[in-house]
Amino acid sequence: MPTSLDWTRGAGAGDPVPCVICGKPAICRSPAGKPVHKVCAEAWTEQQRTDRKAVA
Ligand SMILES: [Zn+2]
Repeated sequence: MPTSLDWTRGAGAGDPVPCVICGKPAICRSPAGKPVHKVCAEAWTEQQRTDRKAVA
């Protein structure tokens, strides 16, 4: 099961603004309300988990 983020609450389409991760226009919003592509957020989340694993 891949990492699941809740994209149904508070998230959704908006005006295209630069993704906080890749900088390309994104209409998606993260659950935190930041403009980010879903794939970018999932990749970032996966990266964080990998980093933690490397530390531990
Ligand atoms: Zn992006």
